[in-house]
Amino acid sequence: MKIVVLKFGGTSVGTIKKIKKVAGIIADYRKKNFKVIVVSSAMSGVTNELVKKSREISENFSDTEYDVLVSSGEQVACSLIAGSLIHKGLKSRSWLAWQIPILTKGLHKNSRINKINKNKILNYLKDGGIPIITGFQGIDDEERITTTGRGGSDASAIMLAKFFKAQKCIIYTDVEGVYTTDPNKLKKAKKIKVISYEEMLEMASLGAKVMQPVSIQDARLNRINIEVKSSFVKKSGTLITKRSNIINNKIITGISSTNNDAKVSLIGVKDKPGVAASIFKPLSKKSINVDMVVQNISANGKETDLTFTIKSEDLNKTKKIILENKNIKFRNLLLKDGVSKISIIGVGMITTPGVTFRMFQTLANEKINIQVISTSEIKISVLIDKNYTKKALKALHKEFKLDN
Ligand code: ASP
Ligand code: MG
Repeated sequence: MKIVVLKFGGTSVGTIKKIKKVAGIIADYRKKNFKVIVVSSAMSGVTNELVKKSREISENFSDTEYDVLVSSGEQVACSLIAGSLIHKGLKSRSWLAWQIPILTKGLHKNSRINKINKNKILNYLKDGGIPIITGFQGIDDEERITTTGRGGSDASAIMLAKFFKAQKCIIYTDVEGVYTTDPNKLKKAKKIKVISYEEMLEMASLGAKVMQPVSIQDARLNRINIEVKSSFVKKSGTLITKRSNIINNKIITGISSTNNDAKVSLIGVKDKPGVAASIFKPLSKKSINVDMVVQNISANGKETDLTFTIKSEDLNKTKKIILENKNIKFRNLLLKDGVSKISIIGVGMITTPGVTFRMFQTLANEKINIQVISTSEIKISVLIDKNYTKKALKALHKEFKLDN
């Protein structure tokens, strides 16, 4: 059986007009003799509205009821798509996750799909039906409704592709694919034809909002090829696949930047075991996400400086937590809002020497000061003043030959 999984994001099903368009895309695949499994997200804005309602009840709204509530948007979208296909004369029906069932493990609000029962859907496909399956939701061992984290219908699509051994998994969205950098920040940004899971994971985690980051990890582990493309324009998108499928002549595949980061420096902290842990423990308890961390070597063996970045919105909270922390001593606390993390990403850097130098030199030529540096095998990140973001993107995009 030639199976294709088509996933539609919130913007693709955002209005009735768009849903009719989506039904057309599904019908086209059907004509190509594919057995089509459709996964849909909620109509755009709906999930946010539901989350808001839960908060109006309580900031600590029950996790189990949260999942029942926020997963409801997908039911609406799926019935509208199925209804639209039926109207076109096709055989279709909606499937809620519990009807299949799609089984999950882990915590509410952030579960992972670990099994999908195939029987009912396979029979339905054999009968010529087009199943429209709710993304984002599942059920756990106790038959409670679960959700797979914001943006989780990507994970639903990938796991359906895995369990049904689909030939293709296509993620339809409102952009044409994955870009070398944010096209809103740099006009010269180019659509990437093919990108490895590892690079895509970095791009997504660093703010390219095309796909849910953990879902890319699911795809990587299960070797599912994903195509990301637009549901509005008929053009080929971006293929996300394993490294060995890619013949690439570029060292850097993409450049990302963050918008709302802040920098925190503790000057003159005691240089002894446990200090870093004492600083970060209360932050993690309050769910403050710490990103880049650097600690200077201690010149006198007694004191050191520690710098880290957080989201700007967490700055005040962080300041308060640090000042109230009785387990740490320091001479000075420096806070700076308005910084941006610029990262160059590419598996090509593993085998190419001098990439770090080229990045630093390019920024130096633009007179952009680097405040913090961090690197991984396929990524180099620097922290700079936010006002220079566009300038940095432009210069690096050119230096690493992504302009053409
Ligand atoms: N509707 C859910 C959300 O907004 C799931 C998704 O969009 O993938 O997070
Ligand atoms: Mg989404």
